Amino acid sequence: MPEITEGMIAVDVALENVLAGVSQLGSEDINVADAQGRILAADVASHLTQPPVDVSAMDGYAVRAADVTTVPATLAQIGESAAGSGFDGKIEAGQTIRIFTGAPVPEGADAIVIQEDTDVDGDQITMKEVSPAGKFIRPAGLDFNTGDVLLKAGIRLNSRNTALAAAMNVPWLKVTRQPRVAIFSTGDELVMPGEPLGPDQIVNSNSIGLAAFVQANGGVPINLGIAKDDPDSLREILTTTTGTDMLVTIGGASVGDYDLVKTVLGEEGLDITFSRVAMRPGKPLIFGKIKGIPMLGLPGNPVSAGVTAALFLRPAINKMLGAADTTHVTETAVLGRDLAENDKRQDYIRATLTMGSDGTLTATPFDHQDSSMLARFAEAACLIIRAPFAGPIKAGERVKFIRLDG
Ligand code: AMP
Ligand code: MG
Repeated sequence: MPEITEGMIAVDVALENVLAGVSQLGSEDINVADAQGRILAADVASHLTQPPVDVSAMDGYAVRAADVTTVPATLAQIGESAAGSGFDGKIEAGQTIRIFTGAPVPEGADAIVIQEDTDVDGDQITMKEVSPAGKFIRPAGLDFNTGDVLLKAGIRLNSRNTALAAAMNVPWLKVTRQPRVAIFSTGDELVMPGEPLGPDQIVNSNSIGLAAFVQANGGVPINLGIAKDDPDSLREILTTTTGTDMLVTIGGASVGDYDLVKTVLGEEGLDITFSRVAMRPGKPLIFGKIKGIPMLGLPGNPVSAGVTAALFLRPAINKMLGAADTTHVTETAVLGRDLAENDKRQDYIRATLTMGSDGTLTATPFDHQDSSMLARFAEAACLIIRAPFAGPIKAGERVKFIRLDG
């Protein structure tokens, strides 16, 4: 594994290792009504042709185009075709039927005259506009045909996809199982929101944020609570992770006296792939496997945890889901504020994102970038990516960024 320096590996190498360390999960069948946001595990072919027959695209009169080549032309109405109940018969020269949107076009008719272009006098209908063959008719199969593969494995089903699956009369869809992600925080200083707060204690915000992050990205978070900064507490909480697809620990990943994750989980069989990444925030970041489960050890500072989740946890979840879009999309924007030169770690700078009236995107970094500043992180929309050793850069130049909300 290439090392940059001091045992740190590059971000893209770390990501490759994370992706190599997780596998796509199995699939399950789900009703189309419940499939929003799920990842399709198999291609879907249509069970029917839509529309099933030629239908009218408008409210009006079904005619033989040959009868209305010169107008006005008066035809005799002999019946009606409505959506769901077609006209049972054929129209001959000089005849018409009343027809509505979505109704079957009767045999003999090959065009529709819209009702705004007619005068009605009893059953004598005067057509005032020429209507060539095919006009305002939706031919059978205009939308799709039986057997057409219209939804591909790997897509994230949105409301348009599920509507299409329903229209194809495919009531059950094969989707990948949602990864169960166990989450625990470590730290004697942590209490859950709303609990009594002793002196020197702070609220465990990371477990809340990461559970929401897992859920937002298609996983099922399992919040296991907080382990104390002592080996027995860590060992105990570890016993509750069985049956999950991935373990995410928060905090205790660094080199301080109370950073026990590496050592204690190591004794419990953690096989570490890497434990330091050349990035800011998030240098102490562990990835490995414990009892067959991939494990990501995130740093405790709230911004570090959030940024490393965006960079590594989201792709890992996507891989488990079999999503076609495994990694994040990098975009470019105009920089809103000067930036100094970077050091050896790849920097992920928290920034707002605004769009000018001409459509230009501007990414403006916050002036202060400390990895404990959750208020700024909550306000940020994106992370500007600064490569190791990148030179100083002026406002107005272009920078690369990734969106925090994917
Ligand atoms: P650690 O990675 O355990 O050294 O923690 C780094 C910093 O993040 C410390 O200031 C911790 O108090 C803080 N921290 C650790 N875990 C959490 C958490 N779950 N929620 C909020 N802050 C945390
Ligand atoms: Mg700690």
